[in-house]
Amino acid sequence: MTAPIAKLSYWGVRGSTPTVDPATWRYGGNTPCLELTAPDGTQFILDCGTGLRMLGSRWGMPNGGGNPETHIFVTHYHWDHIQGIPFFSPLYAENNEFHFYSFRSKFLGRDSLKQVFEAQMALPYFPVDMSAMNAKRKFKEVEGGDTFTIGENKITARWLNHPQGCLGFRIETPAGTVAYATDNEPGDPKLDESLRELAEGADIFINDAQFTPEQLKTTRKGWGHSSWKEGVKLAREVGAKTLVLFHHDPDSTDRMVDSLLRQAREEFDSVFAASEGMVITLGSAGAGDSVQAHMPGMRTSLRKEAQFRAKVTGVTEGGKEFQEETVVRDISLQGALISLQNIPQLQSELQVTMQTPGENGSQSSMQLKGYVVRVDAGAEKGQIAVGVVFTD
Ligand SMILES: [Zn+2]
Ligand SMILES: [Zn+2]
Repeated sequence: MTAPIAKLSYWGVRGSTPTVDPATWRYGGNTPCLELTAPDGTQFILDCGTGLRMLGSRWGMPNGGGNPETHIFVTHYHWDHIQGIPFFSPLYAENNEFHFYSFRSKFLGRDSLKQVFEAQMALPYFPVDMSAMNAKRKFKEVEGGDTFTIGENKITARWLNHPQGCLGFRIETPAGTVAYATDNEPGDPKLDESLRELAEGADIFINDAQFTPEQLKTTRKGWGHSSWKEGVKLAREVGAKTLVLFHHDPDSTDRMVDSLLRQAREEFDSVFAASEGMVITLGSAGAGDSVQAHMPGMRTSLRKEAQFRAKVTGVTEGGKEFQEETVVRDISLQGALISLQNIPQLQSELQVTMQTPGENGSQSSMQLKGYVVRVDAGAEKGQIAVGVVFTD
C-alpha cells in the first residue's frame, strides 16, 4: 500500500499588486494563487490572483493536470485575490465545472462573488462578456466558523483580521493538513484565536509575511498584514510543522525576502519563503518527514557547458556547515547546476569559488554567492544535483 500524497503548487505568492521588476523574479511577481491536489484527486484552488492565468495555461498542455471538477476558495475581494479570473482559460470551456466558495460581503450583499465576476468583466473594463464563460459555475457562500467536507477532505473556514474581511481556510487531507492564512494582521484577540485554530498542528502553515516586524509595529500598523515573526510565534504556539512566508510585499526585492527568511530560520526549524513554481508534497516520506519542497527549474537562459573546478561552502538540510570540492558543469550568468555530495538546504546561501584559467596558464579564482533553488538526485550515485541562482 502506498502512502497518500497531496501536492501543493504555488502559482502566485506576491501581495497587493503583481511585480515585473527583475529584482523580484526569483520569488515571483504574480499575486496569490495556490493549487492543492488531495490524495483522492480532489483539486482545490486557493485564491484567484494573477497566478491563476499560468495554472489555466498549464491545463491545456498534455499531462497538464486539470480536473473537470474543481473547488475554488476565494479568501476576499481585494484585487490581488481576484484579478486572475477573467484570464483563467478553463472558465471558457464548457466541459469544466467549478465550485466557488467565498463569503457574503456586506458591501456587495447576496451572490458577492458572482457580482465580482460580472463587475470585473463589465464593459469597458474587459473586452469579453460573461456569456463567453461556458464552464459550469456554482457559487457557495461560506463564512467564518463553517466546516464541511469535499471528497475525503475536511475544510474549516475562519475569519481573519483584514480590512473588509478575509477568510482563512484549513484543509485536512489524508496526507496532511494545509492552513492557508493570507492577508491577516495580529492584534484582535478573537481573530487571533481563529488563526490559531486554523493553524493548530498543521503540516503546512501559510501565513501573511508582507511586512518586517518593525514596519508592522509602526508605519504599516493597521494595514491588515503580518510578519515572519508573528508566523514563527504562532507556528510554535500551535505546533505547526512547516511555516511558509507568503504574500511578499511588492516593494520587497528577492534579497529582502532572503533576509526575512534567514531571520525566520534562526528562530524556527522548518520555514520556506513562498516562491512561484514551488511545489510541496505532503505525506510522501511517511511520518516525521512528511513535507518535501521542490523549486521550479531555474529561469536561466544562455546556459553553457563548461568545466570549472570549484569549492563550495554552505549549510546542509540538517543545518551543518559543509565545504567540498566539485566541478561546475553547467553555468550561466544567472546560475549554475552543481553536483555535490552534501545536500544543501533549499533556499539557503552557497559560496562557490571557481578556479578559472588565467593568462599564461596561471590560475585565478572567482567567488560567487548563490541561493539554492533546486535540489535533485544527481546523474551519478551518491551525487546531488544542486541548482543555484547567483545573487552577486
Ligand atoms: Zn492580498
Ligand atoms: Zn487583502
